[in-house]
Amino acid sequence: MRVLDTAALLYWPASEITHGICSVSQQVELERVSPQRYMLINSLEIDWRIPDPSWIDEARNRAAESGDLPRLSNVDIDVLALAIGLNAPLYTDDYRLQNAMQMAGLETHPVGVKGAKQVWQWELRCSGCGSTEPVPADVKSNRSGPVKDCVSCGAPMMLKRKKR
Ligand SMILES: [Zn+2]
Repeated sequence: MRVLDTAALLYWPASEITHGICSVSQQVELERVSPQRYMLINSLEIDWRIPDPSWIDEARNRAAESGDLPRLSNVDIDVLALAIGLNAPLYTDDYRLQNAMQMAGLETHPVGVKGAKQVWQWELRCSGCGSTEPVPADVKSNRSGPVKDCVSCGAPMMLKRKKR
């Protein structure tokens, strides 16, 4: 039994989301953020709940104790209330929710989408003259070593992370 915040609904594979516990208010949030994802999520078996008002009160109290309350949305409070009321671990990357959960003495885990958000691009860079070119679509899979020879100076070109 685990409570999933909206980041998990957005980024986790369907198999991981199935049987998770979520607040009904997250459906609205999800539909707004990603209508396509919303349709997929609605086809999965998810335990949608409306948190009991007493759970919401407790969630607000815990978040007030930790000082996070002013920054939490109603959806955040619902998610927190489910985790507190059901005494279930909460999966979230929101540090305010993590903080409030810890204040309540409950388990919290990251959704772990930080890696997915950090997108970078690769390019070919010449080891001789430093000229760069985009990675060709027909490039051979090769974890290390030169990819091709530079058209300007003939030195080997290596796969490098693109500088921004
Ligand atoms: Zn070169």
